[in-house]
Amino acid sequence: MGLENRLIDLMLDLHTHTVVSGHAYSTLKENIEAARAKGLKGFAVTDHGPAMPGVLGDAYHVVNMKLAVPKVMEDIRIIRGFEANIIDYEGKTDLPTEFSPSVEFIIASLHEICIVPSSREENTAGVINAMASGYVDAIGHPDGFKFPLDYLAITEAAYEYGIALEVNNNSLKGEVRGDTRHNYLELLRLAKKNRVYVAAGSDSHFYVSIGELDMARDILEEVDYPKELIINSSVESFDEFIRLRGNERKIL
Ligand SMILES: [Zn+2]
Ligand SMILES: [Zn+2]
Repeated sequence: MGLENRLIDLMLDLHTHTVVSGHAYSTLKENIEAARAKGLKGFAVTDHGPAMPGVLGDAYHVVNMKLAVPKVMEDIRIIRGFEANIIDYEGKTDLPTEFSPSVEFIIASLHEICIVPSSREENTAGVINAMASGYVDAIGHPDGFKFPLDYLAITEAAYEYGIALEVNNNSLKGEVRGDTRHNYLELLRLAKKNRVYVAAGSDSHFYVSIGELDMARDILEEVDYPKELIINSSVESFDEFIRLRGNERKIL
C-alpha cells in the first residue's frame, strides 16, 4: 500500500544508519536513493555514538555534516541526527556536549553492548536522567527488551521535558529484539494519555530497509495515536518539533 493511502502518514524515517556506524552497510548516497524510491520526504541520519564498538571516528562526523551535506537534496530532507549511547544511569551519553548544537535530532538509546542492563527502576532512572540532561530529543527503541522500563514514569517525564519516544519498526519486527509488541502497546496507550510526542524509525542498517515503517504505522493506527503528536508525519511537523526543542537546547 502506498504511503498516501494510510490513516497515518509517516513521510520521514527518523532512525537510519550508514557505514559510519561500523556494523551498517550502506552509504549516505544509497540511503538517499532508497528514501526517494520509497516516496519519503526525508530521513534522519542517526549513526551510533563512539561508545558502540566499531563506530568510525569520534562523533565529529556529525559536526561536519552541516558543511558537507545539503539540508535538502533533490527534495529529500536530510536531517543531521545522532544515536547517542546512554553510558551510565546518571543519563550521560557519548555525544560530547559541545557537538550537540550541530545535531538536529539526538536520539539516546540503551544498548547492552555499551551499558550493563540493570533493574527496571535503574533503567528507568537512566532514561529519565538522559531526558532531563537537555542534550536529548528522543529516546530510541524503549521496547523493554533487555532493559525493562516503567512506562508510566517514562511517559510522564517525556511529556515534562518535551521529548519524543521512538516507535522502532525493527523492534516490532521481532527479529532482533524479541516480541516487544505488547510493550509498545502499553507504552503508546500511556503516551497517548500523557500527550507525548512519538517518532517512528526503521533503524535501518542497510538501504533496503530505509522507510520500512509499516509495523510502527500499524501499531500507531491500532491505538489511534493523535496525528499532531507524531513528529515524522510530515517535514513540517518535524521542523516544528525541532523548533520547540531549540528552545530547550541550542541547535545550529
Ligand atoms: Zn546499530
Ligand atoms: Zn539503537
